[in-house]
Amino acid sequence: MITMDILQTPIEYLKGVGPSRANLLKEELKLYTFQDLLHFFPHRYIDRSTFYKIKDLPKNSSEVQIKGEVTKVEMISQKRGKRLVATFTDGDNIMELVWFRGHQWIKESLKLNTNYVIFGRLNWYGNRPNMPHPEMETIENFDKGLSKALQAVYPSTEKLLNKGVSQRVVTKMIGELLKSQKNRFVETLPEDLRNKYKLISKNEALENIHFPKDQDRLTAAQNRLKYEELFFIQLQLLMKNLQRKQKIKGFIFNKVGRYLNTFFSENLLFELTDAQKRVIREIRKDIGNGQQMNRLLQGDVGSGKTIVALMAMLIAADNGFQSCLMAPTEILAKQHYQSLKSMVGDLDISIGLLTGSSKKAERNQLAELMESGELDILIGTHAVIEDKVKFKNLGLAVVDEQHRFGVAQRAKLWRKNITPPHLLVMTATPIPRTLAMSVYGDLDISIIDELPPGRKKVKTIHHYDSNRLKVFKFIADEIQKGRQIYMVYPLIKESEKMDYKDLMDGYESVSRAFPSPEYQISIVHGQMPTKDKDYEMDRFIKKQTQIMVATTVIEVGVNVTNASVMVIESAERFGLSQLHQLRGRVGRGNDQSFCILMSSHKLTNEAKTRLKTMTASTDGFHIAEVDLKLRGPGDLMGTQQSGVLQLKIADIIKDNQWLKAARGDAQELLGEDPRLEAIKNTSLRQTLAKMKAYQNIWNYIS
Ligand code: ADP
Ligand code: MG
Repeated sequence: MITMDILQTPIEYLKGVGPSRANLLKEELKLYTFQDLLHFFPHRYIDRSTFYKIKDLPKNSSEVQIKGEVTKVEMISQKRGKRLVATFTDGDNIMELVWFRGHQWIKESLKLNTNYVIFGRLNWYGNRPNMPHPEMETIENFDKGLSKALQAVYPSTEKLLNKGVSQRVVTKMIGELLKSQKNRFVETLPEDLRNKYKLISKNEALENIHFPKDQDRLTAAQNRLKYEELFFIQLQLLMKNLQRKQKIKGFIFNKVGRYLNTFFSENLLFELTDAQKRVIREIRKDIGNGQQMNRLLQGDVGSGKTIVALMAMLIAADNGFQSCLMAPTEILAKQHYQSLKSMVGDLDISIGLLTGSSKKAERNQLAELMESGELDILIGTHAVIEDKVKFKNLGLAVVDEQHRFGVAQRAKLWRKNITPPHLLVMTATPIPRTLAMSVYGDLDISIIDELPPGRKKVKTIHHYDSNRLKVFKFIADEIQKGRQIYMVYPLIKESEKMDYKDLMDGYESVSRAFPSPEYQISIVHGQMPTKDKDYEMDRFIKKQTQIMVATTVIEVGVNVTNASVMVIESAERFGLSQLHQLRGRVGRGNDQSFCILMSSHKLTNEAKTRLKTMTASTDGFHIAEVDLKLRGPGDLMGTQQSGVLQLKIADIIKDNQWLKAARGDAQELLGEDPRLEAIKNTSLRQTLAKMKAYQNIWNYIS
């Protein structure tokens, strides 16, 4: 049996690789070892079993294979450079093969009147097809070749191709490696699991993923490798989670006392939704059982997460502990501060606010109150996690809009005490459940899947810029009814100057259409000093202004229930999750609210899909699914750090069923043997230990 060590051999020791090619492979594809190369999976396969006749070629740029011979080769010089053109015939019709580089070599090696199999992507000039840079093989070689049915295509880069590391070279390298190590790979999956899903062996799978003998065996190889990948990730995440729970003792908040009781009977102005009640029960269970809570609370915008957080903080206070609530922006922190203060009313609980712009004197005073334990709740921005901020006994930390914070910041909160505080992280960026359970495998998940009663769905309409007058008329009518309006402009970093100009132009034109003194307009953008931002925001909250012109600073969390229209300018430039977040700023009161998506006529297909999704649905989870399909999980907000998404073969969405199965199996296994100490699990334990490939996950979750 081969040991893992041989697989750890640096790639340059492979026949035909050598140091300079090895460097390229490292830089471009992150392939360092034999192991990496074997697990460098094709991203697709091409069918090399079909041959086309030239007259039947598909009229698009698909990849095709044709048999025939070259009758003529000539060099054509043009202003823009030379190209080598060969006339190719299948016996009935002709077409051209074209090369823009490597002329000499091709000219010398091309044989006239010899039967070739050519393969490549088509180019059409009107009715005339040609094929640039075809792959060519003489019929003889083609017939001798390994696999003619399905041929693996590997991810590549421009640089690799330019340096001669073509598909053929990569295929050869992998073939070489497989040949030299044939049937010597360690089986990583326990037999009972392999039997359960009829999974083929590791050896067979590696062989067939690179050189599939037919479609069935390819599918079998894919299934085996997908399951394996997902299974080990789940095993790691769940083990880590179990260990954390066992190792880390949490504060026990088992009293429900004066604060929560009084709040419940006197201050709570509405009936909690069933979802809110359920989540509060889940939290209470966590914080009462002696383990440290590490819970993610997902709930669509407006679903009422704040009150849940407040109630958890009141329980902390009832048990003699302090808590803190961290928000990503100053505006939001301030708003939380104000709304929590008004929610608790005359309950004698002390709440403080700490942000980047808090004055020194305020800070000092706060510090004293925090260290003496007189302060019960601290609300703030990142300032809260600065090392100099000290609590007497921090028992609960709440992080709002958690996707805005990095994992490192979460970890920092954790370390605020010797015993880490209970942690509740909240997000309105819905992450599909399946994804959440693999991305946030270290968190338990609660979901508020219900909006408070009486809310009307936000009506969403798409208008082209040419319809602006109509939109302005509509806005004027809404203002007439006493409502307020948001108008949001995109701010995308690469072109900050241009975006800023867009915003200012927009502000000008809105000001012209809605002149003072009849109308008052606020403007808020990221480059303004905080105090100006707050001032403008404040005027809007106090209804002194009817229109808020802003960049996406207001994306997160802001709550102005009287605002009923959200106009999003250049909506085609926003991602789905951002659009959804923005729309969530309205529809918070009982009035019918509207979201108007403005765009130019020029829309990419993807932009069209985004706008259509928004007008058709208000369900955050559905929108997140579409987003995921459009962009792939790698781009999903806040998930970039998660190694889970650098999957090599499984697809978190398409392979959902495998993910569930793998998670279930890992759970069952750990239920019996949480540390994998049983003899029958030895090899699993060893495989895990050796899985350096997933190192990044460990970094992520620890
Ligand atoms: P989010 O989940 O987006 O943070 P908030 O906590 O800001 O939402 O709540 C949005 C609004 O809904 C607030 O004005 C809040 O007071 C109100 N709210 C929360 N829960 C309920 C409920 N059960 N019934 C009625 N209104 C509620
Ligand atoms: Mg909120």
